[in-house]
Amino acid sequence: MIMSPFNIETCARPNILALEPYRCARDDYKDDGTNILLDANENACGPPLTASAVSVASTGSGAEIDFLGLHRYPDPHQRDLKQLLCNLRNIHVHTEKSITPDNLFVGVGSDEAIDALLRCFCVPGKDRILVCPPTYGMYSVSAQVNDVGLVKVPLLPAPEFGLDVAKIKEALSTEKNVKMAYFCSPGNPTGSVLAKEDIKQVLEHPTWNGVVVVDEAYMDFAPEGSSLAEWVAEWPNLVVMQTLSKAFGMAGIRLGAAFTSLPIARLLNSLKAPYNVSSPTSALATYVLSDEGLAAMQRNKERLVRQRNRLLEELPKIRGVGRLRGGVESNFLLFEMLNAEGEPDNRTALAVYETLAENRGVVVRFRGKEHGCVGCLRITVGTEDEVTRFLEAIEQVLAEVNGGKTETPADEAKKEAEANGVVA
Ligand SMILES: *Cc1c(COP(=O)(O)O)cnc(C)c1O
Repeated sequence: MIMSPFNIETCARPNILALEPYRCARDDYKDDGTNILLDANENACGPPLTASAVSVASTGSGAEIDFLGLHRYPDPHQRDLKQLLCNLRNIHVHTEKSITPDNLFVGVGSDEAIDALLRCFCVPGKDRILVCPPTYGMYSVSAQVNDVGLVKVPLLPAPEFGLDVAKIKEALSTEKNVKMAYFCSPGNPTGSVLAKEDIKQVLEHPTWNGVVVVDEAYMDFAPEGSSLAEWVAEWPNLVVMQTLSKAFGMAGIRLGAAFTSLPIARLLNSLKAPYNVSSPTSALATYVLSDEGLAAMQRNKERLVRQRNRLLEELPKIRGVGRLRGGVESNFLLFEMLNAEGEPDNRTALAVYETLAENRGVVVRFRGKEHGCVGCLRITVGTEDEVTRFLEAIEQVLAEVNGGKTETPADEAKKEAEANGVVA
């Protein structure tokens, strides 16, 4: 055999070689059926489905997956599904106008929309996006995959975590080649809804030729009327992303949507792979957006809001739990962990994170390395039983951690590396 001169180090793109494989808390702490998974902001109540709704022989009221029709390609346009998404968002709070399926892109989770927008607007190696830390990790991962740089303008300090409009406007005036700004509302990991007036000021920037993207992954946990999806009917340069992964409890089917102006929607739909949304995904999404599915989603959401309120009441009573950072408009909460001196502390937060997972089977997310989040854990709201177990566990673990046990800097560095997965 003659050796090929192939060398992956010089053949692959440098920005791709520099990527780290995706890591999440679940690589360390598996879903073995006994752990309580409060790390990825999934819907603890499960999907808004019943056994009868998904039975193969469903009679017209359930999710009708045509398994025997799977030799056919799915519908590349998904207009019926898009119409259901429009019906949900045409609330006429932010505009008199209505959005239609022509305002929509649907894809494999919001992740596909995040990437499609980058490919649509940013020239690799030249253009950049603006992000506001602390924020969702996928914007920077997707930017790196596309060889697109970042301009960072941190959010205002906790607990508001609002947009720093003056600094954002200044950056958009002075920094070169910034094509998009990715905002997250409610924010991950902040849980705060961004002020509409702040977003408006960026949309109205007098010299910036770019697109404002608002990621509303958690919007259905926020007060009704907060979604700006229909507002895209008023702006040529606004994109609002949503997903069925969170309030709808359908992370497994991978369905995300981007609402935007007709010209941008046309570009996104032209560049996507034609059959990006599978027929089973489409059928299940259609069901959860039906009256029956929406009612079940609302019931699950109310259950989670009750548990969110319970955590807000009970957590501050626990010794070693510090302040709530950020808002309460999502299905997770960001709380400080305090050391024995009563200060927010990453070493304590890491020890709590690790001990909770290893000794108590409760997996949360360490966020202490994110901008403005020192000592913070992000805790997904669970079911009533899960919250009960979590509250007992964290009280005991904090007492143990602050009761003496110290670690070497090397241990600490190792734990930090382990806990610093990129996304979710
Ligand atoms: C979870 C999450 C998403 C969802 O991504 P999908 O690809 O739709 O599952 C999007 N944005 C943020 C900020 C999230 O936290």
